[in-house]
Amino acid sequence: MKQLFNRISALLSKRWVISIILIVLSVGAIGLHRYFHPDIYRIPSNPDNAQEINFFALGDQGSGSLDQRAVADAMEKVASKNKKLDFVVLLGDNFYIDKKLTESSPEWNTMFEEVYSGAYLSAVPFYAILGNHDKDLSLSQARHPEIEYSKKALGSNRWRMPARYFHSDFGNINGRVLVRIVFLDTNASADEMATQAKYVREQFIKNPVQPIWKIVAGHHTIRTCGKHFEDKTNLVKTLLPVLQEAKVDIYLSGHDHNQQFIVKDNEPRYVINGAGGKSLYSQKIHSDDLRFFNEDYGFVRLKVKPTKLSIKFYNKSTENVWSHELLRTCDSLKSDCTKSVN
Ligand SMILES: [Zn+2]
Repeated sequence: MKQLFNRISALLSKRWVISIILIVLSVGAIGLHRYFHPDIYRIPSNPDNAQEINFFALGDQGSGSLDQRAVADAMEKVASKNKKLDFVVLLGDNFYIDKKLTESSPEWNTMFEEVYSGAYLSAVPFYAILGNHDKDLSLSQARHPEIEYSKKALGSNRWRMPARYFHSDFGNINGRVLVRIVFLDTNASADEMATQAKYVREQFIKNPVQPIWKIVAGHHTIRTCGKHFEDKTNLVKTLLPVLQEAKVDIYLSGHDHNQQFIVKDNEPRYVINGAGGKSLYSQKIHSDDLRFFNEDYGFVRLKVKPTKLSIKFYNKSTENVWSHELLRTCDSLKSDCTKSVN
């Protein structure tokens, strides 16, 4: 009996030693891997308390094409070069597919998860809004596969679309929000758009906690010099007056498949980037308000600081093709507050 007991305890102690060796080896291997691949293990910054916010925006990207992947690669390279990225905004037309999208459609992988998979891109949330190609269910229905994917934290849990329209605050400067972004569903009818305009008003006028910078993101353009210049959207009538009243700094949109920057007195600056991966559109009209037009694939990078907001357009070859700066010391909505820096 004693012999048996001794044998069992010898075996147990041997296993114990082996386990300790294995643990030490694995910790060492992880340490070495972290040493050689620090980016993969970087801890994402906490945008809630940051003094500076860096994000990318692009729309009309969900084609699954090589161009979409080329833009994604460029985004990863630019983030890696700057060593800063807090989140990405997807400006709608997230899935160009003929059939109905569900939460388990393979396109989640081929048009989102696997495309934006670099070390930086895989570590940040993607705030997404609906485009005209995403409205595969009636607007009166609250349930939408892109909202469900977000609510159920599916896939890599990076997809953020808690509702058809929502807002989020980023950064904190002595207790003040650095930037508030209101995300809209511009597929809405006139009545529904009026409800969302009211929502914008609540966030930017009624809310006692006012941000330093105000941004609204919607898929459709309000002003554009590209293919959609004649589109009769109800945004000019219902949304624009609220953006003006609230002194919104930037209206971010996609829909026109190119890159544009438009400055019109007493209106928000229009940053258009519908160049995320679907076939491109050329310039259709001339306007003195148009400061920059680029018919190429790419994305826009916004760097938000308390006194300055810089806007940099990049093409898919990672070239910074145009830059602007907005200065907080200026009065909002004055066109001369915009400074072209190249
Ligand atoms: Zn569109």
